[in-house]
Amino acid sequence: MTTISPEDVRRVVAQVVQATLAQAGAPASDPGGDGVFASMDAAVTAADAAYRAYLDCSLKDRARFVQVIRDVALKPEHLEHMARATVEETGMGNVADKIAKNRAAASFTPGTEDLITQAWSGDDGLTTVEISPYGVVGAITPTTNPTETVINNAIGMLAAGNAVVFSPHPRATKVTHWLIRELNRGLADAGAPPNLITTVTEPSIENTNAMIGHKLVRMLVATGGPGIVKAVLTSGKKAIGAGAGNPPALVDTTADIVKAAKDIVDGASFDNNLPCTAEKEVLAVAGIADLLKFEMLKHGAYELRDAALIARLADLVVDGRHAVTDWVGKDATAILAAIGVDAPAGTRLVIAEVPFDHPFVRVELMMPVLPIVRVRDLAEGMDKAVIAEHGNRHTAIMHSADVNALTKLAKRIQTTIFVKNGPSYAGIGIGGEGYCTFTIAGPTGEGLTSAKNFARSRRCVLVGGLNVR
Ligand code: NAD
Repeated sequence: MTTISPEDVRRVVAQVVQATLAQAGAPASDPGGDGVFASMDAAVTAADAAYRAYLDCSLKDRARFVQVIRDVALKPEHLEHMARATVEETGMGNVADKIAKNRAAASFTPGTEDLITQAWSGDDGLTTVEISPYGVVGAITPTTNPTETVINNAIGMLAAGNAVVFSPHPRATKVTHWLIRELNRGLADAGAPPNLITTVTEPSIENTNAMIGHKLVRMLVATGGPGIVKAVLTSGKKAIGAGAGNPPALVDTTADIVKAAKDIVDGASFDNNLPCTAEKEVLAVAGIADLLKFEMLKHGAYELRDAALIARLADLVVDGRHAVTDWVGKDATAILAAIGVDAPAGTRLVIAEVPFDHPFVRVELMMPVLPIVRVRDLAEGMDKAVIAEHGNRHTAIMHSADVNALTKLAKRIQTTIFVKNGPSYAGIGIGGEGYCTFTIAGPTGEGLTSAKNFARSRRCVLVGGLNVR
């Protein structure tokens, strides 16, 4: 007897839906479907149809669909697959930390509870300001956190009532397609309108530009480097730009040095330093610099002391003002092996004491190579931390027991995230209080984005009634 699997049923239902959409004039997704379309126009048009159908869903429905996204992403086999497939496809990061990042995105990204209504009532009646969807959001995602950003953005954008078209980094196409298909299948099973989350078969800069310019895309959210942030900010549309960072970690003489050393190694080696929030340079006040390095070595740091080796490493991983892509997110042991150093097992971070004007400090490396700059005193450390951050207003870390010093640096550096006495990832809700995000909007000021940022304010005024005060 022939048996029919749930997968067969799903495929037949998908074919029927596609045929019905095609008859109704809506674009069909490519074979295999589930939100992946051959052209950007088709992806946007389908998302727009989904958004219009979504308007008829209740807030309870939205909450259910958000829960579906969490549940799909949190299946243990899915967490494992996303992490492995991403490392394999992008050649960046490590599996264990990617699992932690995806789990945090799925668990701690706010949902519909983020949408808070304001109300005024009085003799003249009742006025509310509610946050309401934009429609179709175009979201550009980075190669460094491909699935984390899709999970995080999809939860926030759908919670706010939008549909979303993703334009992923071309080097993370396969894993992003896999995730978008899984999410759409889960949403379809839960009765959501089809194509709330779409993308294109072949992500490219041309397709991203087509998305940016598409008339049905009402809002743009770019998570990436300066090029894409500039592209969305000059689009003439409502845009959120979440751009590059170069987070300094300042350690003063009052800090708990043993803890600071472990926190810095943990933060700077997390997913091989891919997060834009990860410590990218350390400024150590002279009195504690040796002890700090000594303690870091106990936690998996390897210190390069030889000037010729440091120079060889710089030649390998820095090209002018940029990190060499081939080395971004690679394991510390592989980076060391490439310059002829056989590092002990368990090495997860390369440290090197360098002058402040060294390229390791200036360039956003995004690899487990952490420069340490010795500074005379706290004042010099603060000055240099501000310069090293490049005015990105992204993330800074400080280890200190001096409340006044912590306050002073936080005020001077003006970063969106300021972590005190912890690893950098505490700033995105991993081991620190507060919700999680993978889209940290420094340039446009939304900060750690969530559903409320993917929505617009609308005022409803009822004159002369419903005031019971
Ligand atoms: P990237 O800028 O190379 O790519 C990001 C995305 O933008 C990709 O999808 C890419 O295809 C697209 N893109 C880039 N330039 C474009 C252009 N001119 N026109 C159209 N599309 C373009 O960055 P990446 O290497 O994927 O990610 C790392 C960068 O992103 C780092 O600078 C990091 O700090 C930053 N980042 C920031 C955040 C944040 O929340 N602020 C989060 C993650 C990564």
